Amino acid sequence: MTTALPKGRLVRLPTVAELHAVFDRLNRLHFGGRLKARLEWSTRLRTTAGKCVVSPRGNVIRLATAFASRYPELLERLILHEMIHLVASGHGAAFRAEARRCGVEPGPDFMHCPEFAPRRPYRYRYTCPICGLEVLRRRTGRWYCRSCAARHGRAARLRLSRLYVVPGAEPAGDQHPQHTRHRYGGDHAHQPEQLKPG
Ligand SMILES: [Zn+2]
Ligand SMILES: [Zn+2]
Repeated sequence: MTTALPKGRLVRLPTVAELHAVFDRLNRLHFGGRLKARLEWSTRLRTTAGKCVVSPRGNVIRLATAFASRYPELLERLILHEMIHLVASGHGAAFRAEARRCGVEPGPDFMHCPEFAPRRPYRYRYTCPICGLEVLRRRTGRWYCRSCAARHGRAARLRLSRLYVVPGAEPAGDQHPQHTRHRYGGDHAHQPEQLKPG
């Protein structure tokens, strides 16, 4: 099965300024604007979706690009989860009460913290020049459209149409190129898993 996503999805990750805009809005809405934190992307967070560091030198909320690139629609929930950690450490009664106060039912999808073990994020968008199929890939390679390759052969080779870059991070590289392999079709479709913020 080829992973095809609707057009317009995963165009880019929000900039840090945009993250702060979300933070500011949630801060006014739920916390009377009194929370303070700096938001950062982390390309290294591999075991949690996000992290909240409370420190007298300044609070920091780190968000995993690996998570946000997979589940952009869950980013705001993740930010809210980490914001609640600014007033409630751990995931006990205080945390749950805060979540409810913010209008979120603290079910497993919001509460669960332990292991978020992301695969490497998608960084590349490939398009079939014949049927327009779009697929996301974690690495570059020689990919073919499964449905068009039978009739059109090599003309059905997918074209790299977009490279996703993380604002402020180094340009995406491919540490393990395997571009010599020919593949028809590709990865299995990925079902979103539970949100597991840290
Ligand atoms: Zn095609
Ligand atoms: Zn947490």
